[in-house]
Amino acid sequence: MSDVASTFRDQYGAEPEGLWAAPGRVNLIGEHTDYNDGFVLPFALPERVVAAASRASSGWRVCSDLQDGSVSFDSPGEPGTVTGWAAYVAGIVWALAEAGHDVPPADLAITSDVPLGAGVSSSAALESAVLTALIDLGGLDIPVAERPALAQRGENVYVGAPTGIMDQSASIRCEAGRALFLDCRSQEVEQIPFDVATEGLAVLVVNSNAPHRHVDGEYGARRKACEEAARTLGVAALRDVATDDLEDALKRLDDDVMRRRVRHVVTENQRVLDTVSLLRSGRIREIGPLMTASHASMREDFEITVAEVDVAVETALMAGAYGARMTGGGFGGCVLALIDAERADATAAAIAEAYEKNGFTAPTPFVAVPSQGATRL
Ligand code: ADP
Ligand code: MG
Repeated sequence: MSDVASTFRDQYGAEPEGLWAAPGRVNLIGEHTDYNDGFVLPFALPERVVAAASRASSGWRVCSDLQDGSVSFDSPGEPGTVTGWAAYVAGIVWALAEAGHDVPPADLAITSDVPLGAGVSSSAALESAVLTALIDLGGLDIPVAERPALAQRGENVYVGAPTGIMDQSASIRCEAGRALFLDCRSQEVEQIPFDVATEGLAVLVVNSNAPHRHVDGEYGARRKACEEAARTLGVAALRDVATDDLEDALKRLDDDVMRRRVRHVVTENQRVLDTVSLLRSGRIREIGPLMTASHASMREDFEITVAEVDVAVETALMAGAYGARMTGGGFGGCVLALIDAERADATAAAIAEAYEKNGFTAPTPFVAVPSQGATRL
């Protein structure tokens, strides 16, 4: 990460009024449950976006050390007016204004060590850092619980990317040493103890670096199948199918693919609840089998894994992981493995070796420490 205060000084010729940070995230468990009104359990990463910012007399100017040039706009205009990476910034200004807030004109300089497009939600980190900065600079009275939906609206409507509420909730609401249990229907959250380090554990994240294949189309197809199944079953969302009613529900569906999609969502929601129960009583190692079962469900029933992530999961388990699973929307992205901390290097090396044998692009491993959500520095 660059020294963003000095970038700010070079760019705008003054000291920034402050620095605001917001992290990337990984989802410990609960995949494709968000748009089914279900449960997710993300935690924030130490990797984060930092925004240096000051109030300005009019308009917004923004630069990022990951992008060439700076972008300025007098008004965000209608969704789609500002394009490219700065759309994520304009989307926040737009969402705040549309919700009736008096958004302060501002200058912003952005730096980040959240990898882009790696499945750890750099977009939500960028949005959340900018949102937090603008709220503080403008003295806006917006409770933390209402902030994720504003950032999500910026991304969904202004940028035009259909995402659930998880990423922004994680970036804004997570706490260090905890995972965020989020009910995507009510948007209620509970902080769940997840202090892996004091247990001698680590979460190894491995970016598979697999080329993303047909992600948007497959995501849309999964979403459509879930919505259709919910209609057939006469429920508002698949979240409303209780685990005990799953067998009955499956009998009422005549399409085998749809049955498997439903089984994934219903069992995955239950796995989130079971993971939360275990973590509440400090039984961290015991969540391993739930993680591995989640992966099997994504591979067999939801069919969203690819060879690269399957190999990483199998190799991590063979290297002694308590559990391992793909995290994120699928068709590539990252794998999580819960391991003894001292096994992190050996596990990462085993996965790298397996990738080489299979002729895959080398993976990028890192150890994820559950970290603090958006904050003023
Ligand atoms: P992900 O959120 O999984 O990392 P996305 O495609 O949703 O991937 O978001 C990545 C996009 O967000 C980038 O292409 C860029 O437009 C924008 N972005 C994220 N972080 C930054 C940053 N630090 N500076 C500029 N743009 C960024
Ligand atoms: Mg994103």
